[in-house]
Amino acid sequence: MFYEINVKKAISRTKIPVSYYTINPYIGCTVGCRYCFAQFIGQFKNTTGKWGKDVYIKKNLIEVLDREIGKTPYRNFFISTNCDAYQHIEKKYELTRNILKRLISYDFPIFIMTKSNLILRDIDLLKLSKKVYIMITVTTDNDDVRKIFEPGANSIPERIELIEKLNGQNIPTDAFIGPALPMNSKRLANRLVNLVGKVHIDDLNYKYRVRDLYKKYKLEKWLNEESFTRIKNDFSEVFGKDRIS
Ligand code: SF4
Repeated sequence: MFYEINVKKAISRTKIPVSYYTINPYIGCTVGCRYCFAQFIGQFKNTTGKWGKDVYIKKNLIEVLDREIGKTPYRNFFISTNCDAYQHIEKKYELTRNILKRLISYDFPIFIMTKSNLILRDIDLLKLSKKVYIMITVTTDNDDVRKIFEPGANSIPERIELIEKLNGQNIPTDAFIGPALPMNSKRLANRLVNLVGKVHIDDLNYKYRVRDLYKKYKLEKWLNEESFTRIKNDFSEVFGKDRIS
């Protein structure tokens, strides 16, 4: 279910190292990743919604942003920390698109991390600024694994194609391998090495929340520390130490 709500504030301070401010256009995310921390951290935990199904749309967000933006000191923005800014309903509501318009017109540096090829809709805006930094999340090379953990997301081939399309428009991207899910890491690293600038790798946090799912699909060995170390090593070998973090 989708619920339209009004908010009093658009811009929030974030403690995430890559950015100073964040704007979350939605509370909840239709991508519905099973491992997603945003279902129990942040505003969603104060709702009665079901993760992946229920989303609260900040209907008056742009109006509030227009009041705040002129008074905001020059810092970088992350759109968005607690939901995918290009989740399915963005197609209808265009909140992310309107946030982008505002931030670009004020020349703020912007960071966007997404799994969604809906970002291609906004290529016209993305090309207007040299200060937009995009990361596409690719958590595995195996689409069967993707279907288990990221049921509402674009497929892995679609995400690779998305990176290629952004490259074709001279919009450089990095890849976020996080959380690193079961994968053939050598194969994925070799697939990405000529497509992205850098890769950023992260382990699965809050493993206890998805342990049963790993068990159900007989993937438990991937929860071991050694599996993550092997993935990191494979990517390091292919990317070299200057292109990995
Ligand atoms: S796309 Fe991102 S925010 Fe949305 S459910 Fe998946 S991990 Fe969470």
